[in-house]
Amino acid sequence: MKWISDLIDIIFPRSCMVCGKALAGGEKDICIACMVELPRTEPYTPCNKIEKLFYGTVEIERATSYIYHSKESPYNNLVYNIKYRNRPETAVRIAKAAALELAERTFFDGIDTIVPLPLSRKKKNLRGYNQCDYIAQGISAATGIAIDSTSVIRHIANDTQTHKQREARWKNVENIFSVTTPEKLKGKHILLVDDVLTTGATLSSCANAILKAVPDAKISIFTLSCATKTI
Ligand SMILES: [Zn+2]
Repeated sequence: MKWISDLIDIIFPRSCMVCGKALAGGEKDICIACMVELPRTEPYTPCNKIEKLFYGTVEIERATSYIYHSKESPYNNLVYNIKYRNRPETAVRIAKAAALELAERTFFDGIDTIVPLPLSRKKKNLRGYNQCDYIAQGISAATGIAIDSTSVIRHIANDTQTHKQREARWKNVENIFSVTTPEKLKGKHILLVDDVLTTGATLSSCANAILKAVPDAKISIFTLSCATKTI
Protein backbone atom coordinates (compact mmCIF):
# COMPACT_ATOMS: atom_id res chain seq x y z
CA MET A 1 0.00 0.00 0.00
CA LYS A 2 1.42 3.31 -1.11
CA TRP A 3 0.46 5.27 2.02
CA ILE A 4 2.44 2.83 4.16
CA SER A 5 5.58 3.21 2.05
CA ASP A 6 5.06 7.01 2.04
CA LEU A 7 4.78 6.94 5.83
CA ILE A 8 7.90 4.78 6.16
CA ASP A 9 9.73 7.27 3.92
CA ILE A 10 8.75 10.10 6.29
CA ILE A 11 9.85 8.24 9.40
CA PHE A 12 12.97 6.72 7.85
CA PRO A 13 13.87 8.93 4.90
CA ARG A 14 15.70 7.01 2.23
CA SER A 15 18.80 8.66 0.93
CA CYS A 16 20.69 8.58 -2.34
CA MET A 17 23.58 6.09 -2.22
CA VAL A 18 25.78 8.51 -4.08
CA CYS A 19 25.14 12.05 -2.82
CA GLY A 20 23.32 11.21 0.43
CA LYS A 21 20.38 13.56 -0.20
CA ALA A 22 16.87 12.37 0.66
CA LEU A 23 15.22 10.53 -2.21
CA ALA A 24 12.03 11.93 -3.67
CA GLY A 25 8.98 9.74 -4.15
CA GLY A 26 9.55 7.45 -7.10
CA GLU A 27 13.34 7.66 -6.87
CA LYS A 28 15.06 4.41 -5.98
CA ASP A 29 18.62 3.80 -4.76
CA ILE A 30 20.05 6.97 -6.26
CA CYS A 31 18.51 10.33 -7.06
CA ILE A 32 17.72 11.40 -10.60
CA ALA A 33 20.57 13.94 -10.63
CA CYS A 34 23.11 11.23 -9.72
CA MET A 35 21.54 8.83 -12.22
CA VAL A 36 21.98 11.41 -14.98
CA GLU A 37 25.58 11.99 -13.90
CA LEU A 38 26.52 8.28 -13.72
CA PRO A 39 30.15 8.08 -14.86
CA ARG A 40 29.25 6.02 -17.91
CA THR A 41 31.96 4.52 -20.08
CA GLU A 42 31.93 5.58 -23.72
CA PRO A 43 28.88 4.36 -25.70
CA TYR A 44 29.59 0.84 -26.93
CA THR A 45 31.61 0.48 -30.11
CA PRO A 46 33.58 -2.55 -31.33
CA CYS A 47 37.30 -2.62 -30.43
CA ASN A 48 36.78 -0.33 -27.45
CA LYS A 49 39.31 -0.10 -24.60
CA ILE A 50 37.58 -2.77 -22.54
CA GLU A 51 37.64 -5.29 -25.37
CA LYS A 52 41.32 -4.53 -25.91
CA LEU A 53 41.99 -5.49 -22.29
CA PHE A 54 41.14 -9.10 -23.23
CA TYR A 55 43.23 -9.23 -26.40
CA GLY A 56 45.76 -12.05 -26.22
CA THR A 57 44.13 -13.69 -23.21
CA VAL A 58 40.85 -15.03 -24.58
CA GLU A 59 38.85 -14.81 -27.77
CA ILE A 60 35.72 -12.75 -27.22
CA GLU A 61 33.10 -11.20 -29.45
CA ARG A 62 32.23 -8.02 -27.49
CA ALA A 63 32.93 -6.53 -24.09
CA THR A 64 31.77 -3.49 -22.21
CA SER A 65 31.38 -2.02 -18.73
CA TYR A 66 28.56 0.33 -17.82
CA ILE A 67 30.27 2.82 -15.51
CA TYR A 68 33.70 3.69 -14.20
CA HIS A 69 34.43 3.60 -10.51
CA SER A 70 37.35 4.43 -8.30
CA LYS A 71 37.91 4.54 -4.56
CA GLU A 72 37.61 8.32 -4.62
CA SER A 73 34.38 8.39 -6.61
CA PRO A 74 31.09 8.75 -4.70
CA TYR A 75 29.74 6.13 -7.09
CA ASN A 76 31.98 3.60 -5.35
CA ASN A 77 29.20 3.25 -2.75
CA LEU A 78 26.85 1.99 -5.38
CA VAL A 79 29.27 -0.71 -6.48
CA TYR A 80 30.16 -1.61 -2.88
CA ASN A 81 26.53 -1.88 -1.79
CA ILE A 82 25.74 -4.26 -4.62
CA LYS A 83 28.78 -6.41 -4.00
CA TYR A 84 28.79 -6.63 -0.23
CA ARG A 85 25.57 -5.27 1.20
CA ASN A 86 23.03 -7.48 -0.51
CA ARG A 87 21.10 -4.90 -2.50
CA PRO A 88 19.41 -7.13 -5.05
CA GLU A 89 16.84 -4.52 -6.11
CA THR A 90 19.60 -2.01 -6.75
CA ALA A 91 21.66 -4.45 -8.80
CA VAL A 92 18.64 -5.45 -10.87
CA ARG A 93 17.56 -1.85 -11.51
CA ILE A 94 21.00 -0.51 -12.44
CA ALA A 95 21.72 -3.50 -14.68
CA LYS A 96 18.34 -3.06 -16.36
CA ALA A 97 19.08 0.62 -17.03
CA ALA A 98 22.49 -0.35 -18.44
CA ALA A 99 20.97 -3.02 -20.66
CA LEU A 100 18.31 -0.67 -22.06
CA GLU A 101 21.04 1.80 -23.05
CA LEU A 102 23.26 -0.93 -24.50
CA ALA A 103 20.44 -2.53 -26.45
CA GLU A 104 20.27 0.65 -28.53
CA ARG A 105 23.90 0.03 -29.55
CA THR A 106 22.97 -3.52 -30.72
CA PHE A 107 25.25 -4.95 -28.05
CA PHE A 108 22.96 -7.91 -27.35
CA ASP A 109 22.35 -8.93 -30.97
CA GLY A 110 22.85 -12.66 -31.38
CA ILE A 111 23.38 -13.36 -27.69
CA ASP A 112 21.55 -16.54 -26.63
CA THR A 113 22.15 -16.85 -22.92
CA ILE A 114 23.42 -14.94 -19.90
CA VAL A 115 25.87 -16.65 -17.56
CA PRO A 116 26.49 -14.84 -14.27
CA LEU A 117 30.09 -15.31 -13.17
CA PRO A 118 29.77 -17.99 -10.48
CA LEU A 119 31.02 -17.69 -6.92
CA SER A 120 32.40 -20.78 -5.23
CA ARG A 121 29.83 -22.55 -3.07
CA LYS A 122 31.85 -21.64 0.01
CA LYS A 123 31.86 -17.94 -0.79
CA LYS A 124 28.21 -17.93 -1.80
CA ASN A 125 27.24 -19.57 1.49
CA LEU A 126 29.31 -17.04 3.37
CA ARG A 127 27.89 -14.00 1.56
CA GLY A 128 24.43 -15.49 1.10
CA TYR A 129 24.08 -14.44 -2.52
CA ASN A 130 25.92 -13.89 -5.78
CA GLN A 131 25.60 -10.28 -6.88
CA CYS A 132 26.16 -11.35 -10.50
CA ASP A 133 22.86 -13.27 -10.40
CA TYR A 134 21.03 -10.00 -9.78
CA ILE A 135 22.93 -8.16 -12.50
CA ALA A 136 21.99 -10.99 -14.87
CA GLN A 137 18.33 -10.63 -13.82
CA GLY A 138 18.37 -6.93 -14.70
CA ILE A 139 19.81 -7.62 -18.15
CA SER A 140 17.36 -10.44 -18.71
CA ALA A 141 14.43 -8.21 -17.71
CA ALA A 142 15.49 -5.61 -20.29
CA THR A 143 16.39 -7.96 -23.14
CA GLY A 144 14.36 -11.13 -22.62
CA ILE A 145 17.54 -13.23 -22.87
CA ALA A 146 17.44 -16.33 -20.64
CA ILE A 147 19.83 -16.86 -17.74
CA ASP A 148 21.87 -20.02 -17.21
CA SER A 149 23.34 -19.99 -13.71
CA THR A 150 24.03 -23.71 -13.38
CA SER A 151 26.15 -24.79 -16.36
CA VAL A 152 29.34 -23.12 -15.15
CA ILE A 153 30.68 -23.55 -11.63
CA ARG A 154 33.59 -22.17 -9.68
CA HIS A 155 35.14 -24.95 -7.69
CA ILE A 156 37.89 -23.08 -5.95
CA ALA A 157 37.36 -20.05 -3.73
CA ASN A 158 40.48 -18.18 -4.68
CA ASP A 159 41.75 -15.60 -2.26
CA THR A 160 40.84 -12.00 -2.76
CA GLN A 161 42.55 -10.50 -5.79
CA THR A 162 42.69 -7.01 -4.41
CA HIS A 163 46.21 -6.97 -3.03
CA LYS A 164 47.91 -9.21 -5.54
CA GLN A 165 50.37 -8.18 -8.21
CA ARG A 166 49.27 -8.58 -11.80
CA GLU A 167 51.12 -11.84 -12.49
CA ALA A 168 49.97 -13.40 -9.22
CA ARG A 169 46.38 -12.50 -10.04
CA TRP A 170 46.50 -14.40 -13.32
CA LYS A 171 48.11 -17.44 -11.66
CA ASN A 172 45.55 -17.30 -8.85
CA VAL A 173 42.55 -17.86 -11.11
CA GLU A 174 43.91 -20.57 -13.40
CA ASN A 175 41.64 -23.63 -13.62
CA ILE A 176 39.09 -22.50 -11.06
CA PHE A 177 36.03 -22.83 -13.32
CA SER A 178 34.35 -25.90 -14.84
CA VAL A 179 31.48 -26.44 -17.21
CA THR A 180 29.08 -29.04 -15.79
CA THR A 181 26.70 -29.30 -18.75
CA PRO A 182 28.55 -28.32 -21.93
CA GLU A 183 25.68 -29.60 -24.08
CA LYS A 184 23.49 -26.77 -22.78
CA LEU A 185 25.96 -24.17 -24.06
CA LYS A 186 26.77 -25.84 -27.35
CA GLY A 187 26.83 -23.41 -30.25
CA LYS A 188 25.58 -20.56 -28.09
CA HIS A 189 26.68 -16.97 -27.85
CA ILE A 190 27.11 -16.46 -24.11
CA LEU A 191 27.12 -13.17 -22.24
CA LEU A 192 29.36 -13.55 -19.19
CA VAL A 193 28.33 -11.09 -16.48
CA ASP A 194 30.40 -9.77 -13.60
CA ASP A 195 30.08 -6.81 -11.24
CA VAL A 196 33.52 -5.23 -11.38
CA LEU A 197 36.27 -5.35 -13.98
CA THR A 198 39.82 -4.89 -12.73
CA THR A 199 42.51 -6.95 -14.51
CA GLY A 200 40.05 -9.15 -16.39
CA ALA A 201 41.95 -12.23 -15.15
CA THR A 202 38.95 -13.96 -13.56
CA LEU A 203 36.67 -13.31 -16.53
CA SER A 204 39.34 -14.53 -18.95
CA SER A 205 39.80 -17.68 -16.91
CA CYS A 206 36.06 -18.37 -16.93
CA ALA A 207 35.70 -17.61 -20.63
CA ASN A 208 38.64 -19.90 -21.45
CA ALA A 209 37.14 -22.71 -19.35
CA ILE A 210 33.88 -22.39 -21.31
CA LEU A 211 35.64 -22.31 -24.69
CA LYS A 212 37.72 -25.35 -23.77
CA ALA A 213 34.60 -27.34 -22.83
CA VAL A 214 32.43 -25.89 -25.61
CA PRO A 215 34.71 -24.98 -28.53
CA ASP A 216 31.88 -23.76 -30.76
CA ALA A 217 30.54 -21.30 -28.16
CA LYS A 218 31.04 -17.55 -28.49
CA ILE A 219 31.64 -15.28 -25.52
CA SER A 220 30.82 -11.65 -24.83
CA ILE A 221 31.40 -9.85 -21.55
CA PHE A 222 29.43 -7.30 -19.55
CA THR A 223 30.48 -5.81 -16.23
CA LEU A 224 28.54 -3.27 -14.26
CA SER A 225 31.61 -1.21 -13.51
CA CYS A 226 35.21 -0.89 -14.46
CA ALA A 227 38.00 0.37 -12.21
CA THR A 228 39.34 3.57 -13.73
CA LYS A 229 42.91 2.43 -13.11
CA THR A 230 42.29 -0.64 -15.29
CA ILE A 231 42.13 1.18 -18.59
ZN1 LIG B 1 22.16 11.65 -5.47
